[in-house]
Amino acid sequence: MSQIKLEPKKKFGHKDGCVRCGRKRGIVRRYGLMMCRQCFRETAPEIGFRKYS
Ligand SMILES: [Zn+2]
Repeated sequence: MSQIKLEPKKKFGHKDGCVRCGRKRGIVRRYGLMMCRQCFRETAPEIGFRKYS
């Protein structure tokens, strides 16, 4: 009998979602931030970023 072994693939580092709302889509990881784009937009001015072009 052949036994199928399910091995986890390489992790992509997406285990965590947005640090603010937990969303996992559209995460902005540049600058070391882990926020979704929406939270990034709302938080950017507070942390010194202007609107991203
Ligand atoms: Zn968010």
